[in-house]
Amino acid sequence: MPVKQFIQTQRVSIIMTKRCTLKCKLCGALAPYVENYHPPAEFLKKEIDAFFKIVDKTGIIDISGGEPLLRTTVSDFALGEILLYLIENYGDRFDYLRIFTNGTIVPGERICKVFRDVRKKKSFSITVDNYGKYSSKVKSIASRLEMEQIDYIIRDYSENIHCGGWVDLRDISLKHIEIADAKNLFAKCAIPQKLGCCFELMDGIISPCSVAAARYLCGEAGKEDAEIIDLFAKHTEMKRKLLEIFEADYFPSCHYCVGGLSDDSERVVPAEQATDEEIREWREKYTMRV
Ligand code: SF4
Repeated sequence: MPVKQFIQTQRVSIIMTKRCTLKCKLCGALAPYVENYHPPAEFLKKEIDAFFKIVDKTGIIDISGGEPLLRTTVSDFALGEILLYLIENYGDRFDYLRIFTNGTIVPGERICKVFRDVRKKKSFSITVDNYGKYSSKVKSIASRLEMEQIDYIIRDYSENIHCGGWVDLRDISLKHIEIADAKNLFAKCAIPQKLGCCFELMDGIISPCSVAAARYLCGEAGKEDAEIIDLFAKHTEMKRKLLEIFEADYFPSCHYCVGGLSDDSERVVPAEQATDEEIREWREKYTMRV
């Protein structure tokens, strides 16, 4: 009888929505350009089920977007539903749960009750990005989370810039034809080398880094590519591709990547807002999937 292989990832992000209260031109998630991606909670649950059918354990689950707190309204409480679904169904399959928010929405009573329930059962924190004048609710969010005794950290991008700033990874044109150059980039990139990849669940796929996800969203990579895993394919096929990602010494997307997250990647000022014209131009350049 074959021995079952235990599969573990360091982290995975669940993309709740690409809608956002900001329109950051250099958003690594391409949120202003793909804001139509706003799946029903039932679809997100199916993605989570599919992920845990092939992955036995993950260290961190990140809930991000877009802005996940947009999904805490009376008519759309998907964030609360997903947090409770994870705790109830997969609480023993991960260690730590985090939410990323952009400092523009103060969590209300209904979602704070869910936060309190989650905190009793799991290590849980909220990361609040502070983009200065754009993140107008940071102080109110901090007060609310302190009152609720929810752990949080504020990542400062206004004065003492977190990590020196963002890296603009949006240029996904072909740059490195030689495999040796792609491998060189991969070897310097913190995503595979230090973070064990930044797997994302989005639109029914798993991708190992934001450049691979961006290429998928822009129609430049597909489920036939080595680093794009169809979440609803046969389990054996999904496992094979995931194990190959673990073993890889470069991804096809490295050929198209401006430089990955390496120490010498140029840092740019975060949260510059895109104009409608810039968003329209971007969408016209690609066959966007959503
Ligand atoms: S595509 Fe870029 S971000 Fe992704 S692993 Fe390669 S170098 Fe890193």
